[in-house]
Amino acid sequence: MQKVTILGATGSIGQSTIDVILRHPDMFKVFALTANRNIDLLLQQAQLCQPEYVVVSDPKLLLHVKDVFSKNALNCEVLAGCDALEQVSSDAEVDVVMAAIVGAAGLLPTLAAAKAGKKVLLANKESLVMSGDLFIQTANKNNAQLLPIDSEHNAIFQCLPTDFTYGDLEGSGISNIILTGSGGPFLSTPLDELQHMGPEQACAHPNWNMGRKISVDSATMMNKGLEFIEARWLFGLQSKDIQVVLHPQSIIHSMVQYVDGSVLAQMGNPDMRTPIAHALAYPQRIQSGVAALDFKKLADFSFTEPSQARYPNLELAIQASNAGQYATTSLNAANEVSVAKFLNGEIGFTQIAEANDECLQQISSHKLTSVDDVIACDQQARAVTCNIIKRIKTTGMVGAKNV
Ligand code: NAD
Ligand code: MG
Repeated sequence: MQKVTILGATGSIGQSTIDVILRHPDMFKVFALTANRNIDLLLQQAQLCQPEYVVVSDPKLLLHVKDVFSKNALNCEVLAGCDALEQVSSDAEVDVVMAAIVGAAGLLPTLAAAKAGKKVLLANKESLVMSGDLFIQTANKNNAQLLPIDSEHNAIFQCLPTDFTYGDLEGSGISNIILTGSGGPFLSTPLDELQHMGPEQACAHPNWNMGRKISVDSATMMNKGLEFIEARWLFGLQSKDIQVVLHPQSIIHSMVQYVDGSVLAQMGNPDMRTPIAHALAYPQRIQSGVAALDFKKLADFSFTEPSQARYPNLELAIQASNAGQYATTSLNAANEVSVAKFLNGEIGFTQIAEANDECLQQISSHKLTSVDDVIACDQQARAVTCNIIKRIKTTGMVGAKNV
């Protein structure tokens, strides 16, 4: 019986994780569920899963949540705050941590799980983008097992040989990795209309049902950019090892190309319960609730190259990954700020990439060697981006291009 902590239980990945876990009561028991604000859903989930702990991120909610839980006769322990998130990630009783908080808020609790040597199911790509080397070293030093949940990285993991050595493509006869992406909801929107696209259109992903932040990232393809950086850290890759290909049907989740001409692809319906079930049971296979892929019903299966003009964020992320940790940490922070401002109706869709670009230009190169360095860099980039956006809102213009 494996005890599981689900960080970000009330989100899209968190809910899918609970769905898979409840199909296998003989294999998994929920130890802790965590949420930001959705107390109603957290309560329903606690009633279903009977965890030992629930954690809310905001300490101000603690008394209210305790009250709600005791009125509903739930006797799990209720905790609050960042320390409590770290506590339920690293508790000696926990075997598996699903890291599914969105954004930089996931860094410390995910890192705590790695430090405690847990089996870490990594959905929170932002934590790896922010802390790359530090995260991988922490996981290695403490014998944590890192299993990718992002469908692309889970696919690559499944297509790599089981004895793959970190970073050694040549040793396994691999020529390159093909990271697939759908292109999001604006794949064929005329370029001059992109600036008018609002949050609801950006969040209407054609294939995947996800949280709002990652949905916007999919529309700008920053998501693929973050995944490019994530793939480099997870598998020890160079930029030249990764090719990004658009595959609008989202059936192939990524591929590994070998020197003999073979290409291994992992396929399946676009439903995150597949990578979640794969990682939860690894190396076994278990039912996930996902329907079998029906090839007779696949109308089309196509591949194209992403256009730089449509997806400037993808190129920005690749450049940042070549520039170093300060750049990927800054880009991630800038993007969290600009996406939040876009979702709040404060800036337009194309201004997300413009603000991200300008932030990267303003942060100068420096070394990040500790978590404190990472957090300071994240904070600096957030402040810089807020200023850039303030100017965009008052002048409607982006600096560099209007000089
Ligand atoms: P979501 O917005 O649906 O859920 C986010 C979860 O994080 C919620 O439980 C929320 O309560 C919690 N949360 C938000 N802010 C928090 C804070 N400040 N402190 C503590 N908890 C907080 O997001 P999602 O779509 O489930 O994505 C979660 C993570 O998984 C992201 O990093 C995303 O990139 C990654 N991911 C998601 C998908 C997907 O299909 N949804 C696929 C691949 C990777
Ligand atoms: Mg993905």
